[in-house]
Amino acid sequence: MAKTGILIEIENNIVKETSFGVMTAAHGHEIYALVLDHDALAVKEKLAEYGAAVIVSITAPGDVSSSPDLQAQMLAAAVKEYSLETLLGTASTTGKDLFARVAAILEEPLVSDCVQVSIADKTVKKSHFSGKTFATLKVNGSPFLCTLRPNSIEPETAPAAGKIVEFTANVEDPGLIKIVEVKKDAGGKLDLTEAPVIITGGRAIKAAENYQMLEACAEKLGAAVGASRAAVDAGYAPHSMQVGQTGKTVSPRLYIACGVSGAVQHFAGMKTSRVIVAINEDKDAPIFAKCDYGIVGDIFDVVPVLTEKL
Ligand code: FAD
Repeated sequence: MAKTGILIEIENNIVKETSFGVMTAAHGHEIYALVLDHDALAVKEKLAEYGAAVIVSITAPGDVSSSPDLQAQMLAAAVKEYSLETLLGTASTTGKDLFARVAAILEEPLVSDCVQVSIADKTVKKSHFSGKTFATLKVNGSPFLCTLRPNSIEPETAPAAGKIVEFTANVEDPGLIKIVEVKKDAGGKLDLTEAPVIITGGRAIKAAENYQMLEACAEKLGAAVGASRAAVDAGYAPHSMQVGQTGKTVSPRLYIACGVSGAVQHFAGMKTSRVIVAINEDKDAPIFAKCDYGIVGDIFDVVPVLTEKL
């Protein structure tokens, strides 16, 4: 049973669903939920429900919110203070940034964006070559540092004590980077890379305004809306919505591809989705060979019916 630290990501005093997935990966080990510069009391109940034996409320003198370097130093200090053998987090924008810094501070290797982890064996499974293969890697770092692709592990509860401890890290070097502003994509909608459900429109969407049809369906599903590169190149959607090799990598529980042919470069970005549904009017479209469920039909007929039923 390894002492395992988990970087908990919190937004508006709510723990992100993706952090519960990471906690689930550590079930069976002693979980230290690391709450960085947030109100730990506000999230205590939820963290205990998902398996936190200890909740470490990490603070530091002064304002650390704009300095990833200070935050990474705080995390590294907590790892040392509690002799954590493993440190896990989400391969989110924050997780990727902080873990790289923590790895540099601790001078230990980091494996990023994994889809499976075995803490006991220090092995991870990672998608390679744009999703064509999966590699199992053995990591010899101590502590073992790893980030997991959002949604790659289904959150499960495992109630634990959830004892809050306070830890003040003596950190002072703010480094060279200062966060001055955080701009959210598309007016504060769900983050594509962390969304549990995604509905994507390909070239078949034909016009930017037709994405409203997908937005309506997404609203019912609690989904984010994505686009193929063909749709982005045609000017129907911004690049921030693009899924694929030269867009975002996503791994939702459910991915609904509407009028997407299933090119290998698109697949590279969504291959690890748990369930893939394709809607395409061409029964021979390559995507039908790669999806779990397929609907042969016109998206402009099928999607409104789906929305209605939902
Ligand atoms: P198409 O291939 O044109 O497919 C449209 C599909 O919609 C067809 O299957 C058609 O049968 C169906 N259709 C048409 N009308 C309807 C309708 N009314 N109802 C139902 N179905 C309909 N692509 C990405 O997506 N993401 C990337 O990141 C990416 N990176 C790339 C990087 C490189 C280096 C290269 C070379 C390519 C990359 N591509 C990427 C492009 C990729 O190869 C494909 O060209 C692109 O994915 C095709 O998008 P699409 O499926 O929307 O369009």
